[in-house]
Amino acid sequence: MPTTPGISLPFALVVQRVLRPKRIWYSLAVWLEATPWAYATFTALEKLVKGKLFGCRMCAQCALPSTAYACPMTCPKQLRNGPCGGVAANGDCEVYPGVRCVWVVAYERAAGAGHTADLRRLQRPIDNREWGKSSWVNYWQHRDAGLWTADASFAAAPPIEQR
Ligand code: SF4
Repeated sequence: MPTTPGISLPFALVVQRVLRPKRIWYSLAVWLEATPWAYATFTALEKLVKGKLFGCRMCAQCALPSTAYACPMTCPKQLRNGPCGGVAANGDCEVYPGVRCVWVVAYERAAGAGHTADLRRLQRPIDNREWGKSSWVNYWQHRDAGLWTADASFAAAPPIEQR
């Protein structure tokens, strides 16, 4: 079900700066993967925290930094590149009337903080074998590096041809 994040975007961006990949987080991620009980505990904790805050489904390839921290996997159609054509005029989800479309939520949050450029990135398909794993451990080991396009590559996209 579409989920509105439990924290503001400015606060999420501060946390993002603290948790961005660096040597200490990389070392922790390597140790966690080599230590099954610690990895299981850490993943359970991640599921609890991100589940409460974002409705995280544990796809393990986190899109939150590019979607104003609104989880696109809470879209009932799991659309990672924007809303479907069924969003109601009032912004409600087609599948869950009365619940705001997660992409409308993402846009409103991004616009409020001046981050709409992030929503222009194109999300690549995810690896479905990763479900249930820790997205932080993947992130800290740079496995998420190609999850979405850079701004520049989007800007350089050729114009749509008119026939
Ligand atoms: S890891 Fe996947 S399911 Fe969880 S918050 Fe990030 S994008 Fe959503």
